[in-house]
Amino acid sequence: MGSLALSRVDIADPAPTIADEVARLARQELAPLASAIDAGSVYPGEFLRRLGEVGAWASHVPQEGPADLRCAIQSMAALGEICGATAFMAWCQNTLVWYAANSTNMKLATRFGDAFSSGRVLGGTGLSNPMKSFFGIERLKLKGRKVEGGYVVRGALPWVSNLGPDHYFGTIFEREDEDGKPESGGTVMFLADCSDPAITLTPCKPFLAMDGTGTYGVQFRDVFVPDELILAETAAPFVKKIRAGFILLQAGMGLGLMKDCINIMDEVHAPLGHVNRYLPQQPLQFRELYAEFEKEAMTLARDPYNEDDSYWRRVVALRLRIGDASVAVAHAAMLHCGARGYLKSHRAQRRLREAYFVAIVTPATKQLRKMLADA
Ligand SMILES: Cc1cc2nc3c(=O)[nH]c(=O)nc-3n(C[C@H](O)[C@H](O)[C@H](O)COP(=O)(O)OP(=O)(O)OC[C@H]3O[C@@H](n4cnc5c(N)ncnc54)[C@H](O)[C@@H]3O)c2cc1C
Repeated sequence: MGSLALSRVDIADPAPTIADEVARLARQELAPLASAIDAGSVYPGEFLRRLGEVGAWASHVPQEGPADLRCAIQSMAALGEICGATAFMAWCQNTLVWYAANSTNMKLATRFGDAFSSGRVLGGTGLSNPMKSFFGIERLKLKGRKVEGGYVVRGALPWVSNLGPDHYFGTIFEREDEDGKPESGGTVMFLADCSDPAITLTPCKPFLAMDGTGTYGVQFRDVFVPDELILAETAAPFVKKIRAGFILLQAGMGLGLMKDCINIMDEVHAPLGHVNRYLPQQPLQFRELYAEFEKEAMTLARDPYNEDDSYWRRVVALRLRIGDASVAVAHAAMLHCGARGYLKSHRAQRRLREAYFVAIVTPATKQLRKMLADA
């Protein structure tokens, strides 16, 4: 990691921060790939490993207790300003790191902690279904039964991103007994090893965006999961511990996208400002909103283990507002651009497609609204 400082917030330190370095790499190395990633012809595995080399996946690892997510969010915002799909893959990787860093399974932490946080091993998270299940929206899709030295897991997840043949991801199964009946209240969180021959990755049908994100349907055909891959024997308290971080880290995706949509509106101000000023939504409004979200995200990101209900509500409310604002600002950018933004070659239409993903990725807008209604 060299002398890279952790956070841009340390303005007294003139050394380049990790987020600055990520921003530089995003402009120089990611920008030329963004269209191909969007089209699904490139999965930027090498670039993700390169980001690991500059410390992009390590800054939020807890240091003897507290954790600070600010630098990770700022780095993902820098990526999101250039490419929403890559910001999402960065979130997948950061979330995987977050799981391993919070696990009390020492064997797992020793084997994977550094491998994930350095980017030597890539991967993601299959927590959409469990997150929906914990909030009463759908049933758990994976089932596991205890055997000597681990569990045997079966079932399928429809979408898991940032995957490949040697990748890992964290997910959850419901324990069942010998007869296939659910064991009362038992859910286990574990790492799935995509190189296991009993795990099949099936490419998904083309999406509206995010096609270069290494997203697959994942089938588990009686996969043996050894104790070494168990993140938490009881998933519920573990999820409670990591859930604020899981959601807060998504802020980077939305903030980066918002910033670029504001840039797009600014770029067309000179030729079209005389008529664009009649549009109801202007860059200034979004700049103010961005500043508000960034401030709130940076405040909440200093304290991801806070157990107060009021803190949790702030995290959920911020995430909801960022999803809504991402769609709104991308829509406004399209209207400001006019025919220029309607060209396939212009990034405004890509940003609009990416913005909908911010609003539908778990926890989706509807789930966030349910969570606030139930809290
Ligand atoms: C590009 C992309 C990448 C994603 N990456 C991940 C990831 O890395 N990890 C992860 O856990 N989740 C991932 N998801 C899932 C995502 O987080 C959301 O869960 C999903 O977008 C739906 O959320 P929702 O709350 O709107 O649920 P809804 O769409 O309201 O309902 C979802 C449920 O409907 C059913 N369903 C609907 N359409 C289909 C379909 N075409 N095929 C199969 N089942 C269907 C399934 O039972 C599914 O669980 C990804 C989704 C997309 C589109």
